[in-house]
Amino acid sequence: MPESIENAHLLEVRPLTPPAVVKERLPSPPAVQNRVRTARARIRDALHGRDRKRLVVVVGPCSIHDHDAALDYALRLRRVMDRTDDALVIVMRTYFEKPRTTVGWKGLLNDPHLDGSCDIATGIEQARRLLIDLNAAGVPCASEALDPVTPDYLADLLAWASIGARTVESQTHRQMASGLSMPVGFKNGTDGRLEGATNAMIAAGEPHSFLGVSPDGRAAVVKTLGNPDRHVILRGGVGGPNHGPDSVAEALGRVAGQGIARPVMVDCSHGNSSKDPSRQPEVCREVLEQVRAGQEGLLGVMLESNLHPGAQTWQPGVELAYGVSITDACLGWEETEQLLDEIADTVRKRCESSARSEPRASGGWAPGEQAVREHRAQRAAGGRSRSS
Ligand code: PEP
Ligand code: MN
Repeated sequence: MPESIENAHLLEVRPLTPPAVVKERLPSPPAVQNRVRTARARIRDALHGRDRKRLVVVVGPCSIHDHDAALDYALRLRRVMDRTDDALVIVMRTYFEKPRTTVGWKGLLNDPHLDGSCDIATGIEQARRLLIDLNAAGVPCASEALDPVTPDYLADLLAWASIGARTVESQTHRQMASGLSMPVGFKNGTDGRLEGATNAMIAAGEPHSFLGVSPDGRAAVVKTLGNPDRHVILRGGVGGPNHGPDSVAEALGRVAGQGIARPVMVDCSHGNSSKDPSRQPEVCREVLEQVRAGQEGLLGVMLESNLHPGAQTWQPGVELAYGVSITDACLGWEETEQLLDEIADTVRKRCESSARSEPRASGGWAPGEQAVREHRAQRAAGGRSRSS
């Protein structure tokens, strides 16, 4: 037998039900569509400085693996949303796809039965069902856009998306982001460098033509307009955290020309907490200190939080504890709730104090302008900021 010259390492290629058919089977009800629209509009208002007050908070589990636990979490979050609505735009992390440094469980969408069977067709439907349930419960959803085909099945149910640290330099992901209908945050790379994220912001703001999937499930040429709603996410990296004032100022300086009023979100987990969830509150408080000090270019924060703190190891066949992460370790609910109230209080106090202070002489609002000026002056003088 001659050696096969194609598909030599493939086990199977199984067509999926086309996106349009899955959406017909699991349609987004009008109330859910309104929830998504409203949440996107609120995030955009903050991003573009029409809402200068509220912070955007992306909070929830590192990954979703249990429908009931996710709904339980969402109902608790909903109560916090109701009392902090004047100060926060809260979006729940509903991450169904996990990029792995090497190998491991790749998320509910990839392996919904948690047994290595990788029943992706079922994973897509489970993710869609959960997103409909959470939005119907009044909680808008956020996710990482990892596989470029996934948004064709889920994006209509998401208020916000991120491009992760491992894929931010990928042209495929930047092109995908250029066509997404929701605001998108770009993480700095795992090496801590910000260029990948700032270049991604530029690329995703432009139109692109690339290969994708049509609603009826065929290979297609996709042409996009460019996504006007982009920001960076500082998540720390191998060199340490990058959530301090110098790093935020540097990030603001780098994206200053892109016309986004509040272009920087801080991820309090991952490299900024050295993956120790108990450090997320202190990271968050250091960010709040900057908010208090008048840093207006900050869009908000990301927190990794679950019903119960910490993480557990997933192994096929081993029973899991309820409400505990099987990927990155998380804050527990009680601490999350306290922290969300604290963030809201900081926002309210900032507003009270800025209402008391003199209006700006120039009249124009330029978020983070002082930090940007300082950063430029430092660079011009040949200085390096702490986190560069
Ligand atoms: C995450 O948000 O869980 C994640 C994987 O983030 P990052 O891409 O920053 O590692
Ligand atoms: Mn994580």
